[in-house]
Amino acid sequence: MKRKPILAGNWKMFKTRGATKAFVHELAPRVQEAQCRILIAPPFTALAAAASSAQGSGIEIGAQNMHDGLEGAFTGEISAPMLLEAGASFVLLGHSERRHIFNETNEFVRRKILRALEVGLQPLLCIGETEQEREEGRTEAVLQSQLAACLEGISTEGLIVAYEPVWAIGTGKTATPRMAQQAHQFCRGWLQANWGSEIAEKIPILYGGSVNPETIVSLCGMPDIDGALVGGASLDVEKFAHMANLLN
Ligand code: PEP
Repeated sequence: MKRKPILAGNWKMFKTRGATKAFVHELAPRVQEAQCRILIAPPFTALAAAASSAQGSGIEIGAQNMHDGLEGAFTGEISAPMLLEAGASFVLLGHSERRHIFNETNEFVRRKILRALEVGLQPLLCIGETEQEREEGRTEAVLQSQLAACLEGISTEGLIVAYEPVWAIGTGKTATPRMAQQAHQFCRGWLQANWGSEIAEKIPILYGGSVNPETIVSLCGMPDIDGALVGGASLDVEKFAHMANLLN
């Protein structure tokens, strides 16, 4: 089954509202012919500006995180309905920076996925092993435990998964296409075993970790790699547009 490729940009804590509007206005005409879904996750403060600048372009805007509560005394947090109101259509959940810097657990990520699905935001679940876990031969065990815990009691065609080896994020080190394919195949197998083949074949599994215009084609040419989640190289409109036009 052919899954539509996805190019997703995670801007992390970069770009003001003004820079966001300029980026989206420059990007839209350059990706008119692109064959992939194009997703951008700017900081919360730039979400509404990004969504209004992207109107009519087909570019989808989403958030980098959210809280699982609908509202409440959670200083500094943002809820799913707030994201929807700002124009988000998807949300990254469980990014390694959230797990490692902010101590987010699989159980918290699971609650967020449930809430995102309930309100109609597409969850993009990030998973991946650390360098030490890979060296110890525990990559598949880690992926298995993250998938099982984050997706316990959930089964949906509406999910996107991103395999992001932690050692490759922001480091300039990229998994080889073969290494990445092995991990993606493992994730697809888990989805097949737990959700059935029909759903598993529809779920896009993106690769993330220092992807750039030089590496995207060989990675995304692998059978279970359906696109890329890009950090650093998504901040440059030339590089991001180039990658979008390479994915088909
Ligand atoms: C990311 O932030 O999800 C990411 C993959 O970053 P980078 O492309 O910079 O490694």
